[in-house]
Amino acid sequence: MNQQTYIFLGPQGSGKGTHAIELQNDLAKLDPGRPVVHFEMGKNLRDIAAQNTYTGELLKEIISRGELVPFNISSSVLSSYLMQNLNGNEHLIIDGFPRSDTQMEVLDATMAFYKRENPTVVHINISDEEGLKRLLLRGRADDTEENIKKRLAWTRAEWERILARLTKNPIYRILEIDGDHSIEEVHRDILAQLKLA
Ligand code: AMP
Repeated sequence: MNQQTYIFLGPQGSGKGTHAIELQNDLAKLDPGRPVVHFEMGKNLRDIAAQNTYTGELLKEIISRGELVPFNISSSVLSSYLMQNLNGNEHLIIDGFPRSDTQMEVLDATMAFYKRENPTVVHINISDEEGLKRLLLRGRADDTEENIKKRLAWTRAEWERILARLTKNPIYRILEIDGDHSIEEVHRDILAQLKLA
């Protein structure tokens, strides 16, 4: 199996985090000789926000409002993670990045710099009703109904722009996944579309 790069995109509650972890486990079994590096933007940012630092304090406010953290922080978190964790041989999964035009540029530059050929974008889409239902059930501190609605409205428009831009760049292969089904069904669909099943 050639070296692969997967970029998981989707609105909050789409299950992209779960499916990125599932894919990481599948790859470990299918290609045991090659490590899998899995970067999760939201988790990394929440970890920094939980630290007792000035940066953590400022991040916590932004995350609790359900807003994007500033570009200087997100790009530096991604870059330092990759600097520490890539050795050139691994499969790479990126979850939760890019979420804006400026982040798209960082993604393009990152793929070029690390010579990641033909990254696959796994776009998991869900309806707003399903997203609201799932996020309320999850009950995370930053998941108040008001925050969720704000994020869902924002993401719908943002995703369309980001996907349109990714689609224009021929290096990316885009997979459209319907995320409104059960975890098992969505997982099967992802594996089938990735031709890993
Ligand atoms: P998530 O775990 O994906 O729900 O992300 C948690 C929070 O981290 C989001 O509500 C944002 O405040 C922030 N965040 C996650 N990904 C990004 C990103 N790519 N750019 C900026 N902020 C982000």
